[in-house]
Amino acid sequence: MSATTLLIHDGSAAPDAPVTRVGGLPLAPAGTDWPTCTACSGQLQFIAQLVLDGGRGVLAVFMCANDPGSCQEWSATSGGNRALLFPPDGLAPLPLPALPAAEDGDDESDEDDGDADEEEDDEEDDEDVRLLGAVRTVERVTVAEPEYRPAVKAWSERSGRPGNEVLGRLGGTPDWLQYDETPHCTGCGAPMEFIAQLEDGPDPLTAPNFGSGRAYAHACAPCGRGGWLWDWWGGRPPGGGAGT
Ligand SMILES: [Zn+2]
Ligand SMILES: [Zn+2]
Repeated sequence: MSATTLLIHDGSAAPDAPVTRVGGLPLAPAGTDWPTCTACSGQLQFIAQLVLDGGRGVLAVFMCANDPGSCQEWSATSGGNRALLFPPDGLAPLPLPALPAAEDGDDESDEDDGDADEEEDDEEDDEDVRLLGAVRTVERVTVAEPEYRPAVKAWSERSGRPGNEVLGRLGGTPDWLQYDETPHCTGCGAPMEFIAQLEDGPDPLTAPNFGSGRAYAHACAPCGRGGWLWDWWGGRPPGGGAGT
């Protein structure tokens, strides 16, 4: 019988801490561009970095949060998210690039927007959707349960802490909500290695938006590529989605 390694919420850290964490700033090789969304061209939100075992690198995962539900950000192939596998050494905090000049003005920059009627909800003008509101570090706890849900339950009972402090699972087998969606490497075509699955986490204000589902991070270390997607209960993407 195998065990499950859970990722447990373990407090906060500096935004540039060189550890596995949710939130903060990504660590990347010098010269890396902040990734952008293929669908809306906006800059992606940094979700998490996962330090791979065996010194195989750091997997940084990003997702479009510019208009949730519109960019198929749950899909491994739509371009609404990104997983970048970096080498383990020589990483530095990736600076946030300047935002494109904002909406005050008669400067007619070449915005090729097909969506002229996008409604801007300016509820939080100073909120930067490229970053999460908090940094969470994780503690790895191994539970002698092969299945994810029973492992979460066993940990919660043993620790007396709520199950939503479990941020996900490291390695092992992904616990798909619907069906196996293992992405294939865009380099070699092989099914990618499962690295971790992530949950929204305990704090709705600062959690990534996985539509109350789960995200799955994958990598192909030999090719230096990452892939990720998320999955939720039921047939429709959250927010109605852009559909097919
Ligand atoms: Zn987008
Ligand atoms: Zn590959």
